[in-house]
Amino acid sequence: MATATETKNLRTPIVCVMGHVDHGKTSLLDKIRGTTVVDKEAGAITQHIGATEVPLGTIKAMCGNMMAASVVIPGLLFIDTPGHHAFTTLRSRGGALADLAVLVVDITEGFQPQTIEAIKILRQFKTPFVVAANKIDKIQGWAPSPNSPFIKSFTGQPDYVKAAIETKTYELVGKLSDLGFSSDRYDRIRDFTRNVGIVPISAKTGEGIPDLLMVLIGLAQKFLEDSLRMTVTGPGVGTVLEVKEERGLGFTIDAIIYDGVIKVGDTIVIGGKEKPFTTKVRALLKPKPNREIRVEERFDRVSRLTAAAGVKILAPGLENAMAGSPLRVATEENKETVLKEIEGEMEKARIVTDET
Ligand code: GDP
Repeated sequence: MATATETKNLRTPIVCVMGHVDHGKTSLLDKIRGTTVVDKEAGAITQHIGATEVPLGTIKAMCGNMMAASVVIPGLLFIDTPGHHAFTTLRSRGGALADLAVLVVDITEGFQPQTIEAIKILRQFKTPFVVAANKIDKIQGWAPSPNSPFIKSFTGQPDYVKAAIETKTYELVGKLSDLGFSSDRYDRIRDFTRNVGIVPISAKTGEGIPDLLMVLIGLAQKFLEDSLRMTVTGPGVGTVLEVKEERGLGFTIDAIIYDGVIKVGDTIVIGGKEKPFTTKVRALLKPKPNREIRVEERFDRVSRLTAAAGVKILAPGLENAMAGSPLRVATEENKETVLKEIEGEMEKARIVTDET
């Protein structure tokens, strides 16, 4: 068991949302955030990569008394991946950037080609995941009870609706079994290290989302105790999500810092279009909690930032940065070594990406 002082240094787990197009990835993140990105995009496919920090307090408020008292992680950081390409190109040293994943499957459509593709990627990187069986509100006869836990909504449904949910859930269990995963509805699982949990949800009504967040928190604590107890006081390490030119700011990068600390004035090494380069951090813009990194006016200027967090970085020369590349804080003394290490990491990443 971790002691109180140790748990203080647990970093926020990074969660990636994957699934077939139109199965509800954006809607799910949107519901979790309580904002209306989907409406603004008017149904457009998500083209950008963002990150949303959901603090534990928010999750506790959603889950009410379903939440175990022993939760010690600070919250969850969701990466909004528009597809699987992001998952394979965004990586930390030695693996995928995401610690956990939510695989969104439209319960009325079941597995589709991109669902299977996502599972293959998750298996390759040994990423623990949970299946969000979305759109339960579309099951005929479903009587919605907005934002309530799945179990509560389910109990109040007529028998034929319950039966339909069970049938659809077992179709997913069958497909997962074909792909080598043992699974069941999450409330029937005792050991999440051996079985994949399926959480029926509706990103439209919010039903099941408390259950989904709770399973994610549980998974994070079970699987990641060791990897989450990282050196959150050491030099910052991260991954570049996007390189963007912003009006009035010039070229910026959106990055996820998954370990350590980054400060204004730090020398950073980033993978470039041709080769890695160094620059100095001019400003750090941190999205406010529950807001997506790409929604401009919602930033706080901070002088330092601790993992894991999404951040927009301003620094000279960022037009040469490459999305998906590593980012590391360096010192004058070790920057040549770090440059070489990043060059090596990028070479390895290229090989893995080519194989997927
Ligand atoms: P993505 O491509 O996976 O990001 O999917 P979107 O979140 O854009 O959703 C695709 C469509 O499905 C949109 O029209 C959403 O409004 C709709 N949708 C998403 N989740 C639900 C749900 O739980 N219930 C219903 N009825 N519609 C949903």
